[in-house]
Amino acid sequence: MKVICILCDQPFIPDKFTEKKLRKHPHRIQLCPDCYVRIKNQVLKRQRHQQEDPPTAEARAAQTPELHEETNLYSND
Ligand SMILES: [Zn+2]
Repeated sequence: MKVICILCDQPFIPDKFTEKKLRKHPHRIQLCPDCYVRIKNQVLKRQRHQQEDPPTAEARAAQTPELHEETNLYSND
């Protein structure tokens, strides 16, 4: 049984456990071991980075919607 990796489009042979899962759920997307390790490292790196320095006040302000400006528009009229 061959599976196509969604990231690198390379066919790879899944291990027995993954193969069993794919037989039950054939539409699940699959990563080849290479991509899996690559993505895992990126995620771990990002998580470590976030833990080391939390988002600054500017970054938090960018994430929150600016409701104050809208309310000010109405009060000016
Ligand atoms: Zn891949």
